[in-house]
Amino acid sequence: MDLLFSSTRNYSEKVTASQAILKGLSDDGGLFVPDRIPKLDVSVEELAKMSYQETAYTVMRQFLTDFTEDELKGCIEKAYDKKFDTEQIAPLVEAGGVHYLELFHGATIAFKDMALSILPHLLTTAAKKNQISNEIVILTATSGDTGKAALAGFADVKGTKIIVFYPKNGVSPIQEKQMITQKGENTYVVGIHGNFDQAQTGVKQMFSDKELAKELELEGYQFSSANSINIGRLVPQIVYYVYAYAKLFADGKIKKEEAIHVVVPTGNFGNILAAFYAKNMGIPIAKLICASNENKVLYDFFETGKYDKNREFVLTSSPSMDILISSNLERLIYWISGNDTKKNTELMKALAGQGVYEITPKMREALQDFYGNYASEQETAKAIKNLYEKTGYIIDPHTAVAKSVYEKYEAATNDQTKAIIASTASPFKFTRSVMNAIDKKYDAMEDFELVDELSRLGNVKVPNAIEEIRNAEILHDHLCEVDQMPQMVKKFLGMK
Ligand SMILES: *Cc1c(COP(=O)(O)O)cnc(C)c1O
Repeated sequence: MDLLFSSTRNYSEKVTASQAILKGLSDDGGLFVPDRIPKLDVSVEELAKMSYQETAYTVMRQFLTDFTEDELKGCIEKAYDKKFDTEQIAPLVEAGGVHYLELFHGATIAFKDMALSILPHLLTTAAKKNQISNEIVILTATSGDTGKAALAGFADVKGTKIIVFYPKNGVSPIQEKQMITQKGENTYVVGIHGNFDQAQTGVKQMFSDKELAKELELEGYQFSSANSINIGRLVPQIVYYVYAYAKLFADGKIKKEEAIHVVVPTGNFGNILAAFYAKNMGIPIAKLICASNENKVLYDFFETGKYDKNREFVLTSSPSMDILISSNLERLIYWISGNDTKKNTELMKALAGQGVYEITPKMREALQDFYGNYASEQETAKAIKNLYEKTGYIIDPHTAVAKSVYEKYEAATNDQTKAIIASTASPFKFTRSVMNAIDKKYDAMEDFELVDELSRLGNVKVPNAIEEIRNAEILHDHLCEVDQMPQMVKKFLGMK
């Protein structure tokens, strides 16, 4: 039987994979989930021989069951090509006894490229399959990395427009420059006077605004989402965990069926959820270690069973994790409730209303695969400095949060299981924080001087993505208040 998708808030309405990708979010406000997690139907020996692209096909075809072989392979070929600066796409690097899964070799040097280089192709294929003639308008809220990766993915893709909202004072200077220099007739970038959660809530409100949807329809437009709630982002992210496990096996680093830990610097809970799905497909993952920065709402949740977003929002050196509402967590909540859409809806309503919910003791028991902890700003900086001094390998602040949390886990458990740390951004994207962590003296330097100094210290070539923006022209300068977001969208689409 073909796998279908249903909403976390209503089990009865099932849609195909292509419909779920097109819609992004279900009409009832829920997230699309596969009605079961398929088991991998190939052995680790077979996986060990596969390229990244072959692994991607093997994993994704089990979820995207209404895509033909040609369609899916076409999407994969267009996504994982020369835009990546290594043929391995997601290489594993060992430093200090830990394996770093480098997910930053794509066009925008952050892990968002892993999914956003394929999403536009999945989406336009899905539109064709469903006889959609409307132009698709991608609305995205970004904490920094999604925005640029989505812009790069969708720029000049026919039949689409992309509008990105980012917190004006909540992203790194390089992240901002990457976005506001984006080329492409169909790209729009807006800084909002607010934080990421406000941007995300604003986008979600537009998605569920039925009046707005009608107005768009009349003009020949429809919204879709490139945010990590789209199943077309989640599924491609499962691939690299399968690929990394098979690579460790191929390289003789682990024995057959040997379990490993996966450590993920977490914000919206998409990346770690993909690892959880990989585990449920049959990859032997022992613990899923969820690493937070000082916005430690997830750590508190794993500790207490209570999710409480009512707290101060902290701007940290790992801005892509400065999030208090981890949208993808809803999929896990649904899972641990035993697919209880009523319970999940009740909890999500409480979150939207009072900003807090508490799961039942039985649901808590189902969380045993997870370990949560967090790293302070100081601990994050220390992790960068220590690893650099010990091994010469330089990691970005997001990855450093994960490294620091992994050290806490090791100290607490003495567990010798091997671990993969998801390395989610190139240090070149957060040069100032990285260089300051290594030595405070660097703070006196200009952004691009720091880039060259980092290249020298780490003995790594400056990535193309950075070279490109050195002298790029600023093409976007829109700013707005949170409540003006719908007006901005209408303006860009030439509506009144
Ligand atoms: C988006 C992002 C994260 C957080 O990933 P989620 O899937 O939202 O949990 C971590 N690090 C970097 C660099 C990111 O861009």
